[in-house]
Amino acid sequence: MSGRTLLVTGGMGFIGSNFVRYWLERRPQDRVINLDALTYAGNTDNAAGLPDSANYHFVRGDITDQQQLKQLFTQELIHTVVNFAAESHVDRSIGDPGIFVRTNVLGTQCLLDQARVHGVMRFVHISTDEVYGTLGQEGKFTESTPLAPNSPYSASKAGSDLVARAYYETFGLPVIITRCSNNYGPYQYPEKLIPAVITRALQDEPVPVYGNGLNVRDWLHVEDHCSAIEAVIERGVPGEVYNIGGGNEQTNLQMVRRILAELGKPETVIQFVADRPGHDLRYAIDARKIERELGWQPSYQLAEGIRRTVEWYVSHRAWWNKSLVTQPQLGRPATGTAS
Ligand code: NAD
Repeated sequence: MSGRTLLVTGGMGFIGSNFVRYWLERRPQDRVINLDALTYAGNTDNAAGLPDSANYHFVRGDITDQQQLKQLFTQELIHTVVNFAAESHVDRSIGDPGIFVRTNVLGTQCLLDQARVHGVMRFVHISTDEVYGTLGQEGKFTESTPLAPNSPYSASKAGSDLVARAYYETFGLPVIITRCSNNYGPYQYPEKLIPAVITRALQDEPVPVYGNGLNVRDWLHVEDHCSAIEAVIERGVPGEVYNIGGGNEQTNLQMVRRILAELGKPETVIQFVADRPGHDLRYAIDARKIERELGWQPSYQLAEGIRRTVEWYVSHRAWWNKSLVTQPQLGRPATGTAS
């Protein structure tokens, strides 16, 4: 296939911007329209290094704005939608759930509607393992694990997954849902665990860790997430859900210690703080379906991926400093999980 037009929503955020770069580097014949509202998490600097060509076009816009979406879908012949746009931070969803429901559920439904009316060939909805709720010490989430979200963020993502599913079942829209574990890598807003730890430690500030730090997350390098989405776009089956994960389970405390060791900073900067309400104990992804059916494999080893990520933040101080300076109160929440 060649010469497709992809509508990527949330392409100025962490994963979306990595994905746009990943895609255009590998498929210069395709065209990408990046639709992003530029909330606090969206940053035009994240588009650094994108080719300045007719094949890349940024549109500032909100996925809940039906008029703007209608105009965009009418003007452009969109082949594939990849929906990253979302409110994505669990802590913020506890403080202000309404915007999460609005963006994540209503916004996804507005996009699905236009995709249906205009007959797109693929609608890839990017979701999260957090929709499955929490695990005990054993087991992993499979695609048939019941949805049992515990935070307003994960509930809004689960809601959007169900609306997306309904558009496949009811209207035959070729929807595919992906559910990925925690991502790490360059261009992640410094409120999330890994960049928060790195940037605080680099400034010799205390590094807060929720509860006893023993909550477990499964980590995946963002580039491996991008290659999984690529596999889904190219070979995924409409109506299906694909879990994506790296098989890298770590407690938050292990991850914080690993980063501090990489930076040569003492563990005395760790400060345990009151736990997040409804804090899920453990996430672990069974990714055998996408490995078996779509031939996807992650390429990063955790140690190497973290080492390179730390190096990136060390050498891109101006990038993250700007987020902290322009949004000082937003760059400093307690660090818990990554989303
Ligand atoms: P992010 O917060 O870094 O980026 C979100 C982007 O969406 C921002 O650029 C923001 O401006 C944009 N946006 C927000 N509201 C919008 C609206 N109404 N209209 C248009 N654009 C809007 O998030 P991220 O970490 O890159 O996550 C991207 C997607 O991947 C989300 O859907 C998230 O649920 C999912 N996900 C994230 C992770 C993770 O570890 N970060 C893991 C699994 C799934």
